[in-house]
Amino acid sequence: MSGSAQAEIIRLERTRFAPGDLGKALAAWSKLAHTPRKRSPAVRTGCGEPSCCPPEPDEWRELLEIAMHALPSKSARELARIVGPLDSRILDHPALRHNVSPRGRWWHFSRWPWED
Ligand SMILES: [Zn+2]
Repeated sequence: MSGSAQAEIIRLERTRFAPGDLGKALAAWSKLAHTPRKRSPAVRTGCGEPSCCPPEPDEWRELLEIAMHALPSKSARELARIVGPLDSRILDHPALRHNVSPRGRWWHFSRWPWED
């Protein structure tokens, strides 16, 4: 990422999120995107209690979406060039592509892979 994009991300984290949040969001989304095709993706990683466990991958993706709309357009495009290929990999995963949410944001998966 360019220096100006990094500076704008740090500014956005100060005003909208917490320091380091965008990096955590990208790491969580990238980890989900790189799940081997034969493995069940870890779409739910904690107990669901916000004060106890870190956000789930789909919540991190929501944060990335907010950031892509809040950043100035050049920086938003830089972030989108990172997020886009991760989205594609996730949508290509056999356990996930049939579970995208039919309403609202696709990354709020309609059901979890192990609920089959
Ligand atoms: Zn917990």
